[in-house]
Amino acid sequence: MTSSPEPSSRPAEPPVRRRDTRLDNYVDRYAVRTHGMTASAIRALFAVANRPEVVSLAGGMPNITDLPLDVVGSSLQRLVLDDGRVAMQYGSGQGEPMLREAICEVMGLEGIAAHPDDVTVTVGSQQGLDLVTRLFCDPGDVVLCEAPSYVGALGVFRAYQCEVRHVGMDAEGLSPQALREALEVLRQQGKRVKFLYTIPSFHNPAGVTQSEQRRREILAIAREADLLLIEDNPYGLLGFDHEPLPTLRSLDSELVIYLGTFSKTFAPGFRIGWVLAPHAVREKLVLAQESATLCPPVFSQFAVAAYLRDHDWRGQIKVFREMYRERRDAMIAGLADHLPAGCTWNTPAGGFFVWVGLPAGLDAQAMLPRAVTARVAYVPGTAFYTDGFGSRFMRLSYCYPTPERIIEGTRRLGEVLNREAAL
Ligand code: PMP
Repeated sequence: MTSSPEPSSRPAEPPVRRRDTRLDNYVDRYAVRTHGMTASAIRALFAVANRPEVVSLAGGMPNITDLPLDVVGSSLQRLVLDDGRVAMQYGSGQGEPMLREAICEVMGLEGIAAHPDDVTVTVGSQQGLDLVTRLFCDPGDVVLCEAPSYVGALGVFRAYQCEVRHVGMDAEGLSPQALREALEVLRQQGKRVKFLYTIPSFHNPAGVTQSEQRRREILAIAREADLLLIEDNPYGLLGFDHEPLPTLRSLDSELVIYLGTFSKTFAPGFRIGWVLAPHAVREKLVLAQESATLCPPVFSQFAVAAYLRDHDWRGQIKVFREMYRERRDAMIAGLADHLPAGCTWNTPAGGFFVWVGLPAGLDAQAMLPRAVTARVAYVPGTAFYTDGFGSRFMRLSYCYPTPERIIEGTRRLGEVLNREAAL
């Protein structure tokens, strides 16, 4: 006869937990794709850099203090009261039709004639990047991108185990010559490129903009090589000097997949972006979106659509532009006044970023802790490359601090650089 164990009268003891001796006890369980997901060494410093006494020229947060919160607030209130039961329900995997229509109107400002059927709404353009990479890239596939390139895109490419090859830039952005050479090297190696990821307008982090001629040259190369282009254009409507240049997508609707976002022209917190893709790709994108999120956030989509309906959003973009122009001017004046000889920088015609080159012998990554101690922060250039390059460069953002703080930040940075040069 078997006896069942006596019920214990003692209270159950909590399970004994082995003391973790490793930093991450789950390390041998992770998928290989996580190996590329490393926290940047500079993240810890940024916690310090966010203290109020530090002038942070590091982050790329848009400045939304000028947004009319009263208009947004009453739009949201009406949205909840009038349409709440739809806006708080699941929705379409492709995104809400009325928002996709409004997105086509927004893209019209940059010369893109698009049909709402070809738009897929995403959780910021960051998710657009993720979904597009998911659709096209197997581990080991080659992706071309500018040198330097957007750190968030590099993170996505790493997560999908892509092989990133950087293509050189000059004052007019991506160099056609460098692109031809990269394609030739890959051809000789028998490797196929899945796509070229590019930020033609007001580049993050380089601050440069492809001229119209340059755009046409890049497209001609792409057609010749049957190369797919991913055009990431979060800053296109934030130009300071003239009407937007034609987007790559407006010049070619077959080879270009276009990523857009409301993060810089409205507000990033709603997390609404979009992908405009050729029809067949769009069908796959929606399937990918459904498996990732079921549907992009419906409430946010309604909120953005209500903002576009109830507010002079074009006028608001002009307000943002003027505010960023003033900050760009403050930064360029501050750099000219305070940076030591041998430093180089460009004057961006829009967007948020200036790319600063340091004199030979200085290392932006090594000196970052000392800069933070001197109460100024930036992002070292190495963050924007996958190959360790970039230590002689830094990205400065002028989007968030006031012009006075920007000038003060450049003064502190100048002092740090002078001290470093004297070491
Ligand atoms: N692409 C680029 C070039 C960016 O600078 C950013 C934001 N920093 C993004 C994509 C992602 O923006 P979001 O997901 O907020 O639309």
